[in-house]
Order: sequence, then C-alpha cells, then structure tokens
Amino acid sequence: MKGLTISAHGGLDQLEVRDDLAIPDLGRTTDVRVRMRAAALNHLDLFVVRGLPGVTITPHWVLGADGVGVVDAIGEDVQNVAVGDFVVINPGISDGTCEYCRQGEQSLCLRFGILGEHAPGTIAEFVVVPSANVRSIPSTIPVDVAAAFSLATLTAWRMVVTRAEVHAGEDVLIWGIGGGVAIAALQICKHIGARVWVTSGSDAKLERARQLGADEIINHRTTDVAKLVRDRTGKRGVDVVVDDVGVATWKQSLLALGRRGRLVTCGATSGPLVETDVRRLFWNQWTILGSTMGNDVEYDAIIQELRAGRLFPPIDRVYPLGDSPAAFERLERAEQFGKVVIEIGDRG
Ligand SMILES: [Zn+2]
Repeated sequence: MKGLTISAHGGLDQLEVRDDLAIPDLGRTTDVRVRMRAAALNHLDLFVVRGLPGVTITPHWVLGADGVGVVDAIGEDVQNVAVGDFVVINPGISDGTCEYCRQGEQSLCLRFGILGEHAPGTIAEFVVVPSANVRSIPSTIPVDVAAAFSLATLTAWRMVVTRAEVHAGEDVLIWGIGGGVAIAALQICKHIGARVWVTSGSDAKLERARQLGADEIINHRTTDVAKLVRDRTGKRGVDVVVDDVGVATWKQSLLALGRRGRLVTCGATSGPLVETDVRRLFWNQWTILGSTMGNDVEYDAIIQELRAGRLFPPIDRVYPLGDSPAAFERLERAEQFGKVVIEIGDRG
C-alpha cells in the first residue's frame, strides 16, 4: 500500500512517500481496519519527524494522527461499527484497563499513545485501530472536514469546556489563531457565548478569525498583547488564556490574566521551560491547567457537534498523498489558516 513514512528522525527531507508498505492485519479481536479517504496534519506530526524523547520508530514508519475512511475489516468482538461504515478516527490510544481508563479518563491513561507517534499513523491507504477509536458519521459530512476534525477539536474542547470551564460573558485570550487547536477553541468559546480575543503575527489570519467571530484581534508581532488587553479591559485582564505556545508567550499570558484567571495549556511549540512569579500566582488566585487530548465522553460530545454542523474545522489546503511532503512544509512555515489535509485513495 501507499503511505507517507520516515525511516529516521530529522528534517522534512526524511519524508518519503512509499508504495511498497504491507497492508496491516487486525491485531486483536477488537480492532478495525480502515481504508483511508483522507488524513490531516497537526503540529504533533512535525515533532514526530524531528523526534520526541522516549518515542522510538521502526522503518518505514507511517505518519499521521487524524483521518477518516471506510471500515474495511473488523475483529470478531467489534460491535460499534460494521464493514462499509464511514468513520472518523480518534487518534488517542488508551489501554482501557488502567486506573484512569476505568474512570473514563482515557487521555490520562498510563499507557496513552497517539496514532503516528506511538502506533502506525493515518497517512496511508489502510490503518488498524481499536474499535473504541472510531465513530460512524453520515457520508454527507465532507471528507476533508471529517479528516481534520478529531485531534484539534477534542483538544480544544477539553481545554475550554472541561478544564477552564469557560462561561458565557467571560473574556478568553487565544494565542496564535491559524492553528487547528486555536481555531477550534475560538469556535467553541463563541458557541458558549464568551468574548474572544485572538492573536496572530499575520493580519490576514486575524481577518479570517474576525469572520469566525473573534471579538478582538491583536497582531502580536507589532503589539504588546498584555498591555493592550489591560488597556481595553480597564486594567482588569481576561478570565482565561489558551496558550499552546509555551516559553514565547507565557509571561504575556500571565500579564494579561485577571484575578482568579485560568491559564490552560496543551502544548509548548516555542519551548517548554517557562517562568512564573509565585507571588503573583497566589495573590491573583490564578489557576494553571494542563490538558491533553480528551476522554471518550468528550469525543462523543464533539462528534455530536460535528453531526449537527455546529463545529467544523476550516480547511486550509488539500494535497494528494503523493505531494504530502509539501503539506508538511506548509505547516512548518506556519502559512496555514485551518487544517492541512491529505487526500488518500483514488484521487491521492
Ligand atoms: Zn489506561
């Protein structure tokens, strides 16, 4: 089968589209095999190419976390889907047996993994996943939208709804609008009825965000974000900051945060080691929240939103599988607004 692979960590020159990969077999009686229609990229995929601590790959390693396709084979104990179903894939793999899984908190699983990072990924003609990781969706949902949906929307949902518990009328600051998680967080906050501030280094991306409902737009290349937030809120600050940038934005995030504010983070694309003045933390009674992916209840909740047409990722660009290295280059240069999708199958 065809797929996008790496055989060693490094730069994007490691990416290789191959057509000689073995079609994966069902491993367990609860597995399903999906004939992929499309996959979508996340920043995580760039980290996998470069190499992550504790993650080992075997050649030829198939990349990709997100995707959508048609069920091609099922194990004898699979009940939630049938061969021929159009399914979207939840990239978070959990063991189903540990203390946290038994509490229904799959993304806290002691053996948690993500497709493309800890297991063969979605940018290939076939992928095998546990049946717990697929949901049937109507074939009327566009393939690119479904492919791009899971990881970013699930991550944003847990951050905004479960962890930060954003309420109507609250002010929320979201860094780096253009990435999938930031856009999903904007959409979810607007559904809740929050007032949303977004930043970007690109005025064009800020205008797109305005069209998606952003109330305040800030160019972080030309503006002191925290000062502007303070000025426009009468020194009060915002209630919640969504920060997945890390060291480059942390200080500004805290300066923008009002009393009893919550800072929620799911990533550190600019670097992981940040500085926090503990005196300001306790005096302002802030809460700093970590968040990773989401649990099965949260996944079912976002699938309902997808089915109802209330949440859908904007699509930046679609590439055929053969051109998938170019898709990675677009993501690495941060040129995208919305999701970068790779079409697989007849047209890929
Ligand atoms: Zn577990």
